[in-house]
Amino acid sequence: MRVMKFGGTSVGTVASLRNVKKIVEEAATEPVIVVVSALGGVTDLLLRAAREACACNREWQQTYDLIVSRHHDVVFSELVALERQQEVWSGVEILLKRLKDYYTGIELLEDFSDRTQCNVVSMGERMSSFIISHIIKDARLFYSPDFIKTEKWFDKNIAATPLTDRLICDTFRDFAGPVAIAPGFISTDAATGDITNLGRGGSDYTAALLAASLGAQVLDIWTDVDGFMTADPRIIKDAEVIPHLSFLESMDLCNFGAKVIYPPTIYPVFHKNIPIRILNTFNPSAPGTLITDEHHDVTDHTFRGVTSIAATSLITAAPDSRFPLPELHSRVLNVLSKQGVEILLTSAASPTSPLKLAVRATDAPRALRALREDFAPELSEGTSPVFTEREDVSTISVVGENIKLHPDISLKLLGALNGAGIDVPASATGASGFTFSMLVNADRHQDALRTLHALIFH
Ligand code: ADP
Ligand code: ASP
Ligand code: MG
Repeated sequence: MRVMKFGGTSVGTVASLRNVKKIVEEAATEPVIVVVSALGGVTDLLLRAAREACACNREWQQTYDLIVSRHHDVVFSELVALERQQEVWSGVEILLKRLKDYYTGIELLEDFSDRTQCNVVSMGERMSSFIISHIIKDARLFYSPDFIKTEKWFDKNIAATPLTDRLICDTFRDFAGPVAIAPGFISTDAATGDITNLGRGGSDYTAALLAASLGAQVLDIWTDVDGFMTADPRIIKDAEVIPHLSFLESMDLCNFGAKVIYPPTIYPVFHKNIPIRILNTFNPSAPGTLITDEHHDVTDHTFRGVTSIAATSLITAAPDSRFPLPELHSRVLNVLSKQGVEILLTSAASPTSPLKLAVRATDAPRALRALREDFAPELSEGTSPVFTEREDVSTISVVGENIKLHPDISLKLLGALNGAGIDVPASATGASGFTFSMLVNADRHQDALRTLHALIFH
């Protein structure tokens, strides 16, 4: 059994769907489960129309019409058999009608709650999977919210295991092929049954959960680039495909900003030792990237890639005699971990210099609130360090398992940035030991990526 996931760009147009059809039908000599995203750009359109409706901006109707026409173009194309087109369109229209009702309600109430948002965005994958199940020969449609169950983890939805695992196994127990189609991204809350989702980019995670529960031989992530690359190809024009990565390297690359795989995706397949391949729908014969549990020998390249998280916040607190660094550090880490805030980097140059922590900009308000609340007694007595925030920074990371064998590397990287006139307010090696991260001014973020990529890959 093989699980294949096609992202938004792969299912975005009639031309790209033609490739998807060919790839899946050729692979269907063994049972395949195909996870699909919404048609490329549709999730953004769904949200845009909702925001417009909520602001009583009548343009939501044009945005809605655009959503209608994107799906109409696909249904009334040569991809769907002529005699089935009207019937398929009637099925899509039921969902579109519901969507329009949601928008009317949002406009009327001027309210766009989280629950409504989940219902609105679910329509993208519901429509795409329904249509694609009529494009691919002998395909059977499954409804992921029936078996992908979520629970809240702070502000995120994560898969509720082992319930999801059991439901996936029950659902696919009798599936012997050739093709199952399942919408990515969408799920239901394990406790309430309300529609939820796995977060933006979450279709990768749906595919990984299916692959892991069903013991697939391989998880294929089909996208619009030739593989996992040494840097974001939109910024680094000469970025190259990385032929092989270990699970751990790919986890760090994704956690530190490589958009090609949604970070939670890797853990379930890593746990079951199921390889991941990153392949290009638009160039299916390219070898792509293979991600496995094999590690590299010491002679192998030190670096695998350079990544960035553009919107980072730097939180600083200065230790003093009443609050020495080790005590301050451990209490801060404890507070943030209880809030589920991921710390991208933590550093203090010496026991008397300020403690610096980098977090995603979206996590910063929650992090600061929690720190100020926890330290409130000491803050009111004036015995606690004051937490300050700097918002205009980006995190740049270089990743490679063999970095740890070259302790002088950090000096080289910092020297290169210094040579390019790029200030680095903080830097540190990550917990895994094979990621070195540096903060830079946000307006120099692309320069820093270019400088480091040129240094290490040329
Ligand atoms: P999909 O719609 O297939 O899920 P995504 O947009 O989520 O695609 O991810 C693929 C995109 O990720 C590529 O088009 C590329 O621009 C971007 N990307 C960012 N960093 C990398 C990287 N290191 N390697 C490959 N692609 C990357
Ligand atoms: N359609 C969702 C998004 O755009 C999920 C995905 O594509 O993986 O984020
Ligand atoms: Mg994606």
